[in-house]
Amino acid sequence: MNDNTHDSRLIDLFLRLVSCDSPSYGEDAVRDAVMAELADMGIKAEEDGAGKLIGGSCGNLYAYVEGDPSLEPVLFSSHLDTVEPSRGKKAVIHDDGLITSAGDTVLGADDAGGLASILHALRLTLESGERHRPIELVFDVCEERYCVGIQKFDYGRVKSKQVYVLDLDGRVGSAASAAPSIVQWKAKFIGRAAHAGFSPEEGLHAIKAAAEGISNLRCGRVDGMTVNVGTIKGGIADNIVAPECLVTGEVRGYDKDLVSGKIDEIGEIMRSAAENAGMVCDFAVDIICEAYRTDESAPSRRRYAEACRAAGVEPEFKVTGGASTNNHWAAWGFDGLVISCAMNNCHSVKEWSSVSELEKSCAIVRELMR
Ligand SMILES: [Zn+2]
Repeated sequence: MNDNTHDSRLIDLFLRLVSCDSPSYGEDAVRDAVMAELADMGIKAEEDGAGKLIGGSCGNLYAYVEGDPSLEPVLFSSHLDTVEPSRGKKAVIHDDGLITSAGDTVLGADDAGGLASILHALRLTLESGERHRPIELVFDVCEERYCVGIQKFDYGRVKSKQVYVLDLDGRVGSAASAAPSIVQWKAKFIGRAAHAGFSPEEGLHAIKAAAEGISNLRCGRVDGMTVNVGTIKGGIADNIVAPECLVTGEVRGYDKDLVSGKIDEIGEIMRSAAENAGMVCDFAVDIICEAYRTDESAPSRRRYAEACRAAGVEPEFKVTGGASTNNHWAAWGFDGLVISCAMNNCHSVKEWSSVSELEKSCAIVRELMR
């Protein structure tokens, strides 16, 4: 283990970060804590204009830390927001080193585990005076709302080719080398209202047409992807032939071309169900993120394995079913991984972290900075 073992400053920093209220669109308290920590190391972080663009209280933070110019720069990223319930978070450190919330909120290790690991590893690196890479930091807002903050970030300013996103649930040492495309679809059936008792033959029944479309759609695991109908909304009253019905759903898959083919197929199914009923269907698509796969030979992956071993942790690469900002970094051509950072059972009030996992996560980041 490295020289950060039992450095109480790491845990103090983690506790300080989780004690900040940090809802999506309201990350200013955690921004202030992160900027203060960086300022204490003599580093000025810049806030971009994403907050204004998305209607939040705070933008994304970016900082550049000079390093040995003969070494390749490296970028670390974590998000500033947390899921609800998150206000008034109080971390409890148990005798065995386990860290939980008081039980009525999430802990906030997603993503304060990442923030604390990066910031403390940077502090140790600078204090040691040793040779290190030029380091870039990006702390984004509103990640928990489909990564809307990072999508307003100016990727053009980034000097690094390799990106490590600290935002993965599970044992420290694990990394996600592949994540799916996620595409949401909406099918709006536009029929015609009529009195259901006096003149039903004059109506075009949008709910019935939508039901026809849905029943022609295969859901669940289909052709190596997942397909879901998530919501259905329609109709006005029991005595009116329903003039409109909106059906929404999503497709996830690890091959973006297959996903886009599946989306086209769903559009066809919905449109033809509408046509059969003499009406139209407006079909719309929202690409939430695109799939990525980081190959075994990618420098980010080789370096991560080396850093884990140097920190005394066994590396493990896996496929995740969820999205993160790395989907966006990958879409912009960066070589990146999402790595675990001492968060477990996240997105629940049973979320937990631990002193030893935080220390390991920090030690791995420290190795990646060398
Ligand atoms: Zn997260």
